[in-house]
Amino acid sequence: MESTVPVINLERCTGCGWCVRQCPTHAVELIARKAVIVRPSDCTFCDACEQACPTGAIGRPFIVIFAPDQQWSRI
Ligand code: SF4
Ligand code: SF4
Repeated sequence: MESTVPVINLERCTGCGWCVRQCPTHAVELIARKAVIVRPSDCTFCDACEQACPTGAIGRPFIVIFAPDQQWSRI
């Protein structure tokens, strides 16, 4: 299965580096003063970077999976 990593909004990223300092696996680094997931295979999809970011620039995407056709009964 393809790995999922946090999405970074480069317009919101100020290059403060908080996500880099908080990432337990060093999966994210600053390149040209912007956060970049440099080692996607090391990302454990925790929420440390998301919690650390003061501008909401980095976050884990939600994956919405719809259930196949189901018969819902009213109570
Ligand atoms: S989700 Fe966790 S492991 Fe992945 S880049 Fe963010 S802090 Fe690092
Ligand atoms: S914490 Fe947010 S604003 Fe700061 S470098 Fe990381 S993604 Fe950019």
